[in-house]
Amino acid sequence: MIPAEFDYEVAESVEHAVQLLGGRPDAKLIAGGHSLLPLMRLRVARPGLLVDIGRLSDLRFVRQAGDRIEIGALTRHHDLANDRLMRERCLVLAHTASLVGDPAVRHRGTIGGSLAHGDPASDLPTTLLALDAEFVALGPEGERTIPAADFFRGIFETALSSSDVLTEIRVPAASGTYVKFNRRAQDWATVGVAVARTDGDVHVALTSMGPTPLRARAVEQALANGASPREAADRAEEGTSPPSDTNGSADFRRHLARVLVRRALEETLSD
Ligand code: FAD
Repeated sequence: MIPAEFDYEVAESVEHAVQLLGGRPDAKLIAGGHSLLPLMRLRVARPGLLVDIGRLSDLRFVRQAGDRIEIGALTRHHDLANDRLMRERCLVLAHTASLVGDPAVRHRGTIGGSLAHGDPASDLPTTLLALDAEFVALGPEGERTIPAADFFRGIFETALSSSDVLTEIRVPAASGTYVKFNRRAQDWATVGVAVARTDGDVHVALTSMGPTPLRARAVEQALANGASPREAADRAEEGTSPPSDTNGSADFRRHLARVLVRRALEETLSD
């Protein structure tokens, strides 16, 4: 199918994008287009105006700022996966980016688009939740910072309003890993697990185990109380509500979560 008719504007700056979004209730941002365009071709999404932020090169960066690493929202998955600072200070996020889709997706898709899309099967949101990342958004009321724990609201639903532009993501230095099970190479995760270790704390988050990425709080608590990775992983399904779909039943996902959490913990804690 081809998309329904739409108008198209190129944003000259983030402020210009916010202004364009505010002027039309049926406007939508486009960054890499790798989530929005497939939906438009199916006519599931029918924006009347596309506001293209893809050329705002000042939103493509990875830089150190104090004890945090700042990532511009237009940073592409390929750039995140291969960035030297990211690989040195927060390999878990670089590694997660390297597992998104295929090379074509990684060369066009952006971290901001992945977050704003709000797909519970996406990989980067899970790792950012485990990292306790912060997201910076500019809207008509000005700039605000949203903790990852408050950002994901439901399936394809986030804390962003229709006239917000996500501009920056902030993460701490961390070790850890992301493991993903999929039925076909380069596909979305049937289940994914992020483990992030910062300052001695171990955080665990899950992909495709509910309507949003989820923190595996029972696993974290068990670890804090001295449980082994295997004992802690047995609690991976607590607080989850996995879907049943063509990739796997809810029961299969619960099983996968236990196995993948154990593997991810063993890998991280053996460092
Ligand atoms: P776009 O498609 O341009 O936008 C997506 C949504 O975000 C739109 O609603 C748009 O309005 C909004 N948006 C974009 N940027 C901003 C911003 N800065 N502020 C506010 N709103 C914004 N993802 C995975 O995680 N794992 C996978 O394995 C995976 N496999 C894929 C395989 C294929 C074949 C394809 C096509 C996609 C796959 N994806 C996967 C999704 C991919 O990662 C997308 O690139 C990403 O989800 C969206 O990024 P984008 O820049 O393309 O966003």
